[in-house]
Amino acid sequence: RQREKQTLFEAHAYTAKLYHYLLQNTEAAKSAKDYLRSRGFSDKLIEEFGIGYAPARWDTLVQALARQQYEPAEMERGGLLSRKQDGDGYVDRFRDRVMFPIHDGDGRIVAFAGRLMTDGQPKYLNSPETPLFNKSRTLYRLHEAKGSIRRTKQVVLFEGYVDCIKAWWAGVHNGVATMGTALTAEHAALLRRYADEAIICYDGDDAGQAAAQKSIPLLEAAGLRARVGIMPNRMDPDEYVSSYGGEAFVRECIDGAVSAVKFQLIYLRKSHILLEDDGKIRYLSEAVRLVARRESPTERELLLKELAQEFNVSVDTLKQEVVDVRRQEK
Ligand code: ATP
Ligand code: MN
Ligand code: MN
Ligand code: MN
Repeated sequence: RQREKQTLFEAHAYTAKLYHYLLQNTEAAKSAKDYLRSRGFSDKLIEEFGIGYAPARWDTLVQALARQQYEPAEMERGGLLSRKQDGDGYVDRFRDRVMFPIHDGDGRIVAFAGRLMTDGQPKYLNSPETPLFNKSRTLYRLHEAKGSIRRTKQVVLFEGYVDCIKAWWAGVHNGVATMGTALTAEHAALLRRYADEAIICYDGDDAGQAAAQKSIPLLEAAGLRARVGIMPNRMDPDEYVSSYGGEAFVRECIDGAVSAVKFQLIYLRKSHILLEDDGKIRYLSEAVRLVARRESPTERELLLKELAQEFNVSVDTLKQEVVDVRRQEK
C-alpha cells in the first residue's frame, strides 16, 4: 500500500517532467505552445507552474514509463494510463492536451488536469480518484499558497486552474482552486487551519454565481468569514485580468470583495421585481431573513439601515421583523 503510493509519487514526478520537457523542447508541441502564448502564458509562467504537453499519440507515456520499469497496471491505478477499450494493454490517458500538474499539500504531484486546445469535450480531463488523489480534499496550488494564506489569514478561492494562475501573476499569492467540482466541507475545514477569511472569486456567469452562493454557508460553517469578489459582464478572473490588468483585478475583485451577506442580497435581488409593492415586500422579507442570520448586532443594524433607506421604510419595522425571524429560527 505505502510502497505503491511511493511508486506513484515517483511516476507522477517523472511524468510531469516529461510532459514539461516535451512542451518546451519538441516540434510536436508547437500548437500547445502557441495556445499557451495566445492565453498570455510567458515561459516564466510555464516554468513556474510546471505546465506540460501530452502528445497526440496513444503510447508516449506507455513507452516512457515502461523504460523506467514501472508496471502498467500500477500506472493505470494511478490514473496515468488507461486500459485499452478492446483487448489487452494500456494507452496514455492524456492525449493532445496542455497539462497542469496538481500537487498535494506537501508539494508532491498527485494528479493532472489536461486541457484541450480546441473546442471539444471534456474541456478539462482530470486524473481519476486514485490512492494519491481525492478531489474533495485537494486544492490546486495549496502547497504554494499556504505560506501566504497563513501570513494574511486570508485565502482566495477560484473555480479554474487558469484563473488561479493568472491571479498569482497579478500578485494574488494566497489563491487556490477546486478541481472542477464543488467546494466541500473538507476543503473548508482544511482552509480554516490557515485562514480566518475566504474570498470567493468565481466566474461571473450564472453557474459561478450559484456556486458562490453554495460555498458561503460551507465556509461559514467551518468558521471562516466569507467575502465575494464581483466579476462584471460574466467574466471569469482570467478574462478580467486579461482585459483590465492585474492591478485592477486586485483592487476591484479582491480588495473590493463584498461581504457574504451583501453578495446574498445582490443575488436575491436578481430574482425579484422591485417595481411594485408586492415584489418589494417579498424581497424585503427574504432580505431580512438573511440579515437575521448574521451574528453581529452591529452588522445587522448597518444592513437594516441601508435597506430601510433604500425602500423608504422605518428601521424599527425591519428590526422588529429581524427579532421575529430570530425567535422563529432559534
Ligand atoms: P478555460 O479558461 O481554460 O476555458 P475555465 O476554468 O474558465 O477554463 P470553466 O468552464 O469556467 O473553465 O470551468 C471551471 C472549471 O471547471 C475548470 O477550470 C475545470 O476545472 C472544470 N471544468 C470545466 N469544464 C469541464 C469539463 N468539461 N470536464 C471537467 N471539468 C471541467
Ligand atoms: Mn465557468
Ligand atoms: Mn471560467
Ligand atoms: Mn476561463
